[in-house]
Amino acid sequence: MRIKRFIVNPFQMNCYIYFDETSGNGVIIDPGVYSEAEKSCLRKYITDNGITITAVINTHGHIDHVLGNAFAKDLFNVHLYLHKEDRFLLESVKEQGVYFGIDIENLPEPDGYLDDNSVIPAGDSTLAVLHTPGHSPGGICLIDHKNKIVFSGDSIFRESIGRTDLPGGNSDILINSIKGKLFTACKDDYIIYPGHMEETTIGHEKSENPFL
Ligand SMILES: [Zn+2]
Repeated sequence: MRIKRFIVNPFQMNCYIYFDETSGNGVIIDPGVYSEAEKSCLRKYITDNGITITAVINTHGHIDHVLGNAFAKDLFNVHLYLHKEDRFLLESVKEQGVYFGIDIENLPEPDGYLDDNSVIPAGDSTLAVLHTPGHSPGGICLIDHKNKIVFSGDSIFRESIGRTDLPGGNSDILINSIKGKLFTACKDDYIIYPGHMEETTIGHEKSENPFL
């Protein structure tokens, strides 16, 4: 499996394509593309590498992670998934846009909801869903146990954690999600690909993250 990261929109959000080079199948995690240049860059990479997108997933419903939902869903004609407890964020994306000074149209409805029992095919592997609320009520991590990779959204970053001052955020719940759920589900050698900034590992965060 290969990971391609695009740093997009005014929030410098990590949009990932997670794909299998043999079959060409893959998923888009957090299609936050906003400008025309970002959209054509994503489209070009997918075309040039012969990738077939099979699903679009939002790790949560904050505006920087969902800005390109309509674009990605329309372009690849695939289903869009997120956790149902973040549906209210998708529905309030215009208000989020006003708050952050970003102009955005209403977004398409999700095609399905994810929870702790969900598993999403991704190339020749799978992504297991782990509900990790706290940054937002419906925040999830996506875990490929075969390849020891975690897409953590904005729950945990390298030596930091997600903000909890936005609607539905709660720092006690977030810390419990990380220490009680994520650190139980993943061993120290799992690599974390977060929603912002560089990757890290579970082991590094267990020992070096000052917020935990
Ligand atoms: Zn967020």
